[in-house]
Amino acid sequence: MNGGTPVRDTWLPYGHQVISEADIAAVVATLKSDWLTQGPAIKAFEDAVAAYCKVKYAVAYSSGTAALHGAYFAAGIGEGDEIVTSPITFAATSNAAVYLGARPVFADVEAATGLIDPASARRRITAKTKALVGIDFAGQPCDYDELAAIAREKKIAFIVDAAHSLGGFYKDKPAASRADMSILSFHPVKSITTGEGGMVLTNSADLYEKLCTFRTHGIVKDPAKLTVCEGPWYHEMQFLGFNYRMCDLQAALGTSQMHSIEDFVGKRRELAAMYRRKIAQTLSAYFDCVPELEGRQSAYHLFPILVKTKPYAETRKKVFEALHGENIGVQVHYIPTYKFPYYKELLDRDLSAEMPGAEEFYSREIGLPIFASMTEKDVDDVIAALQKIAGALLA
Ligand SMILES: *Cc1c(COP(=O)(O)O)cnc(C)c1O
Repeated sequence: MNGGTPVRDTWLPYGHQVISEADIAAVVATLKSDWLTQGPAIKAFEDAVAAYCKVKYAVAYSSGTAALHGAYFAAGIGEGDEIVTSPITFAATSNAAVYLGARPVFADVEAATGLIDPASARRRITAKTKALVGIDFAGQPCDYDELAAIAREKKIAFIVDAAHSLGGFYKDKPAASRADMSILSFHPVKSITTGEGGMVLTNSADLYEKLCTFRTHGIVKDPAKLTVCEGPWYHEMQFLGFNYRMCDLQAALGTSQMHSIEDFVGKRRELAAMYRRKIAQTLSAYFDCVPELEGRQSAYHLFPILVKTKPYAETRKKVFEALHGENIGVQVHYIPTYKFPYYKELLDRDLSAEMPGAEEFYSREIGLPIFASMTEKDVDDVIAALQKIAGALLA
């Protein structure tokens, strides 16, 4: 900061994968097997995640984004429909609805947590709404009971983008088990990784079948489900699907990573507790931590802090730049989706004035580094950098 010596001489990223020798061996064994794709590793990975999340069905996809596309398709979302969702998420949550010709309608979020505000979501549901889509922001489960009740009352699908919350719990049940469909991502910064990859979880046999067919071009092979059968070679493409398959190398890595899910999330929770303790000791005049709400156990994909010094946007920018100067790889999660030029044009206006919660959260938020192989020394470096910045910029 200001040309002085940085707290760290190496860059601390905000997220990073942890790959073990066992993970490498699992991928190598698959490379030597008969199946590189469409083999037994896919089902094994799906079964491992379904068992951990206590759901009946899991469908692996090539990415979390593809999984969102599949889930929205399976929910019957199409041309002219609407989904109600949060703007404090990765753009893919709403992009996948646009792929199907639907329109995302943004509900506001709670300013203290960045989680979708159920009351705001309810107000935005219209006759065109096909799904209410929650986001387990930062790994903290959204208000499943409240959102599920709204979706039930309005007779629409309840879908959750659980890309952050594998390993998180809502009232002692795995977060990703509580919606009609839950979406996971296995990008390297998430709870576990397959390089690229995603999954949809559901308890519905009907949705499961649609999700499987959508993933592989809309092609049906089961003789019982064909409109005609011209012979043993015969299959039918019954709707327009995609090639959204995960390959067996990725699935083998995923199954191996699942052996460590409890360690990974346990480590993230320890790091989060350290951050909370250390911030409360010396930095509480300058930064708020996002609270962990009653009945929720976060998977801590992120550890967001919120600046307290007004004007927020100016303070956040200064602190962000200074942290980068100290080699602390913070990020901002997220630029509200409606602020992007693409969405301003699609929605025909700038929603900023209608979103006080999202605007406040965005203007205050900085995501501190958190990942399973981070050490207490790394946490201390982040705290030391925050103290230096608070002393120089905010005192
Ligand atoms: C990572 C992420 C996705 C997309 O996942 P990919 O696997 O990168 O396609 C979707 N939503 C949220 C909230 C995410 O964080």
